[in-house]
Amino acid sequence: MKVLVTAGPTREYIDPVRFISNRSSGKMGYAIAESFVERGHEVVLVSGPVSIITPKGVRLIHVISASEMHEAVRAEFADSDALIMCAAVADWRPAQISDSKIKKGGARLMLELVPTADILTDISKFKGHRVIAGFAAETGNPELEGRRKLIDKGLDVIFCNDVMAAGAGFECDTNRIVSIDRAGKLNEWPLMSKKEAGNRIACLIESACAEAHRLTA
Ligand code: C5P
Repeated sequence: MKVLVTAGPTREYIDPVRFISNRSSGKMGYAIAESFVERGHEVVLVSGPVSIITPKGVRLIHVISASEMHEAVRAEFADSDALIMCAAVADWRPAQISDSKIKKGGARLMLELVPTADILTDISKFKGHRVIAGFAAETGNPELEGRRKLIDKGLDVIFCNDVMAAGAGFECDTNRIVSIDRAGKLNEWPLMSKKEAGNRIACLIESACAEAHRLTA
């Protein structure tokens, strides 16, 4: 099976030295990628800037911005069996990137931001028999938001977490996930290491791929 995983944040540059980004460490996505390799699958990891060593056996595509991530996912998706979008893609980017460093003069700086394209919404149009999973990092009512995103983005499964909850934040090594599948079945996972969560996600996606192939055979 070829599995496409995304991880980490994206950076949206304002000028050559400044950017807007988010707190994603990439740990969850890298753990998922590693779990798939350990289970004998071909893994392509599209990663934003993180400070994690690439797991052995993973083919890494390094990207910076949301649009670069979009392009890489588009290019790799066609011959993949599953896509797990774990990356915290920036939702906005500066409307303009200055070629030179913006000088400070004491005055206010107004930054105009425009929305980035939603990668999952775009890619799920070409879904076919492939399994697509997303994540929903929320700061309140992750289940409600998760259900909405599962439908809006055309996903088979979504992994939701409250990033404010103890043990489920951005930089930590543990996670507390609620998975929701297309049938609306909700599963509350106990607090576990991101490594264990990665294994569980890999196992779940493997079964979903087997089922998808069985239905299309
Ligand atoms: O809408 P929200 O950003 O909360 O959705 C999170 C999910 O959507 C994640 O799986 C993330 O990787 C994906 N996403 C995307 N393209 C974006 C923003 C988020 O595919 N521009």
